[in-house]
Amino acid sequence: MDVPDVRLVGVRKAYGDVIAVDGVDLEVASGEFFTLLGPSGSGKTTTLRLIAGFERPDEGRIELAGRDVTGLPPYPRDVNTVFQDYALFPHMTVAENVAYGLRVKGVPRRERRLRVEEILQIVQLAGLGNRKPSELSGGQRQRVALARAMVNHPQVLLLDEPLGALDLKLRQEMQIELKRIQRAVREVGITFVYVTHDQEEALTMSDRLAVFNDGKVEQIGTPAAVYERPENAFVAGFVGASNVLQRFGRTFTVRPEKIRMSADGGTRRDDDNAATGRIRDVVYAGMFTRYVVDLDDGGELVVVRQNLETSSTEALDARGRRVLLEWRADHAIETKPEREENHDSSS
Ligand code: ADP
Ligand code: MG
Repeated sequence: MDVPDVRLVGVRKAYGDVIAVDGVDLEVASGEFFTLLGPSGSGKTTTLRLIAGFERPDEGRIELAGRDVTGLPPYPRDVNTVFQDYALFPHMTVAENVAYGLRVKGVPRRERRLRVEEILQIVQLAGLGNRKPSELSGGQRQRVALARAMVNHPQVLLLDEPLGALDLKLRQEMQIELKRIQRAVREVGITFVYVTHDQEEALTMSDRLAVFNDGKVEQIGTPAAVYERPENAFVAGFVGASNVLQRFGRTFTVRPEKIRMSADGGTRRDDDNAATGRIRDVVYAGMFTRYVVDLDDGGELVVVRQNLETSSTEALDARGRRVLLEWRADHAIETKPEREENHDSSS
């Protein structure tokens, strides 16, 4: 592997008794879209602030493009951050907002104008340079914040829940837009480190992701690897539904869409890859329905079915029915149980 753009080695950061980041190791390759995914309070923002230099680690080392920057303040790091609230200057126009960093760096006026034009083109805001932020929609303001960070051509772009303030439809549009922008600037060599608590967003956008829990990294991998081969029960539950099966003293996970559900014919099947139970809950979600099944042998499984020919009434009527659940042997993935300490600290 080439020298990673971002490298964390044994990084730890505590605030009093709270260990926000607890021995994190990770490497992000040049041009990669890398996501820190985890629940609220799991240490994502602190990790990002450590990379940016807004915080210093108590232990460990931070490298950018092979250079040890652990002791450096933010300014000399080749990094820009996009915050959730955008932090645009309200009295400046879009173009002035985007040009701000270049002006501070003393980039000559003519070059400034060209680079602002170029980046506004990339984020599809060409022609809006003279507007004030208050004259823009939420999605447009988000793109100004992105343009302002990218115009400096930083080695690494840090984004902390940048779409968190947008409503669902706009957020989904901006996810696609942000991926397009990332591909457009990949040739310049900008690496994206992205923070979100939204698993779907992480799966959609990332080349690779790190799943955070309690200041630790539980798993690093491609979206497909993390979803299809979760290494432990925490990852299985946080990325996708928590479908944990205890069998033969071992722990497995089966994804809800991999389970076939049919009426229980009363013949108890002695099959490792099947279970019988009763539908306890039905959640109709338009495109699909989610069924929660209490298993006869204890525990529960969530099953998702596309509403191909089912109406909402039919789906909701299924509550209380006895069902047979079956899955392919290779869709039952063995995982390690959740770390013990998680149970202690989750109180
Ligand atoms: P995330 O971004 O994943 O929600 P954070 O990195 O913001 O998590 O926080 C991780 C933990 O560190 C949380 O328990 C949080 O309360 C704590 N924390 C973060 N920043 C500070 C701070 N400046 N002072 C005290 N505690 C903090
Ligand atoms: Mg955060």
